[in-house]
Amino acid sequence: TTPRTPLMAGNWKMNLDWKQGLALVEELGEHLKEVDTSLVETVVLPPFVDLRSVQVAVDAGKLPIAYGAQDISAHESGAYTGEVSGPMLKTLGCSYAAVGHSERRQYHGEDEEVTNAKVKAAFAADITPILCVGEPLEERQAGKHVEYTLAQLEGGIEGLDAAQAKRIVIAYEPVWAIGTGEVATPDDAQEVCAAIREALRAMHGDEVADAVRVLYGGSVKSANVAELMEKADVDGALVGGASLKAEEFAKIAGFQ
Ligand code: PEP
Repeated sequence: TTPRTPLMAGNWKMNLDWKQGLALVEELGEHLKEVDTSLVETVVLPPFVDLRSVQVAVDAGKLPIAYGAQDISAHESGAYTGEVSGPMLKTLGCSYAAVGHSERRQYHGEDEEVTNAKVKAAFAADITPILCVGEPLEERQAGKHVEYTLAQLEGGIEGLDAAQAKRIVIAYEPVWAIGTGEVATPDDAQEVCAAIREALRAMHGDEVADAVRVLYGGSVKSANVAELMEKADVDGALVGGASLKAEEFAKIAGFQ
């Protein structure tokens, strides 16, 4: 009984060259024929260099797959060697961009200031940011996981207007669960996803809080997605490893 359309996003990370990416997205399109795609939004986040071939495949096959980037520059254009801008992504048909993935935070020093600038750059290009938040193991062991995650949320969405806040997607990804095979329990996922929604309610009111999709991410696979999706405040998943196999990811999009 949620008005929110579930969203399943596959983060390919630095895997699959453009030919492999093209093959995966075509195969995913085939497997999604088994899924009622009016009930779920299926999104892939390929490496930048695969986006053009994904665009061609999705357009040619009219596939029920949206796509986006794993990162986005905070800047619109100019002397930022190695970066890719929101307007460039928009021209490739991207609807989404992940922002502040824990691997960006950990290996590229992205903090709240950077994630906030990237969230704003996405909106400026009419791209929906998927803001990733979540605590490392030490914070969970210290019982500070909610506090830590909400600080990342608040920093990341600072200064958004109500329309932007309503459109953003938040992915709760506890760092200890990413790529480890150690999925959070459904209750642990629900605890933090609910806290995220209540923080959004406190900042932006009911309309925003009830509209925002809050995803769980961290070792999601077809075998555990159903129990996570039963939770009231879990509106989808951000999936790494299991999104690299078409049949498996299609099963996840079908919630099992
Ligand atoms: C991720 O990359 O966001 C992720 C959740 O990875 P995995 O599903 O492999 O844990």
